[in-house]
Amino acid sequence: MNDQKEKIIIGFDMDGVIVNNTQPKIRLAKALGFKLLPEQTPSEIISKHLPLLVLRELQRNLYDNIETALTTPLMRGARGVLTAVKKSGFPYFLISRRRIPHIAQGILKKHGLWPYFFDEDNAFFVLEPEDKDVKAAQLGVTHYIDDEVGVISKLNSVKCRFLFDQFNIFSHQPHYTKVTSWAEVKKRLFG
Ligand SMILES: [Mg+2]
Repeated sequence: MNDQKEKIIIGFDMDGVIVNNTQPKIRLAKALGFKLLPEQTPSEIISKHLPLLVLRELQRNLYDNIETALTTPLMRGARGVLTAVKKSGFPYFLISRRRIPHIAQGILKKHGLWPYFFDEDNAFFVLEPEDKDVKAAQLGVTHYIDDEVGVISKLNSVKCRFLFDQFNIFSHQPHYTKVTSWAEVKKRLFG
């Protein structure tokens, strides 16, 4: 009786995975007088290129201002893979650290992802990286995709961790598998 499919329960981060903040960050930085290159925009890199106060202002605009938030595009390929995930029947969840859930939902709604892929039942908003691990453990998540090494490193309950590294700038580490595109996510999930 070993023909049962491996049980997969998938968790997704939102920012830097499902939505692509690269261009909004470049635009907002420019408005504040700073030039950023795309590969300087990932959350764990950007602080090296902007003074703290400028970064805080950029983040306030990006995450808490509904008008700006709604200009955020999806990551290329996300919708197609989400469609495949939904079709596969594998349970899947969104676990995000967005502080204002209705703005996150607004972005997903604008792109047709809410409530088609995500809704009140499978989307969770938490505060700290550790809280992501608690939620992932509660949900039994086996595969989680996040764009921050600092978050991935806290997800001790998750067997298969994937670092979404769209600019291919982070190093390989034993506790995660690096993926650089949604096409690669698909390959990892479905072979
Ligand atoms: Mg993220």
